[in-house]
Formats: sequence, structure tokens, C-alpha cells
Amino acid sequence: MCLIMTTLYLGSMPLEEIGWLRRGACRSSDPDLFFPLAPTPVQEARAKAVCASCQVIEQCRSYALRAGESDGIWGGLTPEERRRTRFPDGWRRPAAS
Ligand code: SF4
Repeated sequence: MCLIMTTLYLGSMPLEEIGWLRRGACRSSDPDLFFPLAPTPVQEARAKAVCASCQVIEQCRSYALRAGESDGIWGGLTPEERRRTRFPDGWRRPAAS
């Protein structure tokens, strides 16, 4: 996630919560790479390649999972991958009868 998008999304977050973003490898990337209007496998792979070289990938992923970010690539994960991480198969048990 680039710094501009971060400012838009996290303007009310305390600096200590998002300070790691200053060191993000995506700072100079095109925001459309991380927040495309129509995601494609090629775009996701390119964004993930940037994340793979990022020194704050763990902080970014942890934040996105904790905050429930629903859009964009964060910490090398797509929205669907984050959803599956947060809610793996079988996480919801059937109601007791
Ligand atoms: S892990 Fe990816 S989205 Fe997160 S700061 Fe690094 S490059 Fe940006």
C-alpha cells in the first residue's frame, strides 16, 4: 500500500500504529497496482512481488488481518486470501441441535 493510499485510509490511525508504512516497499508504487478497479492475476502477482521484497511485510499483514481490511493487496495477501486466513474452512461450527 502506498503512502498516499495509507493517508486516505488511515488518516485517523495513531502514528505508532502505522509508522511502519514509511518503510513499505510500495511507497513509490502505482496505487492502482495495490488497489485496482478490476483485479487480475498479473496485477496481483506484480503487487505480491513488491510485497515479497518489503521489510515490513509482517507488520503490514498483521495490521490488515487485525483491521479487517477488505480491499487491496496488504502484506502480500489479496482480500480473498485475508478472508480465508481470518475465517478458515470450518471456523464456524454448526449450531447445536
Ligand atoms: S507488505 Fe506490501 S502492501 Fe504492505 S507495506 Fe510492504 S509493499 Fe506495501
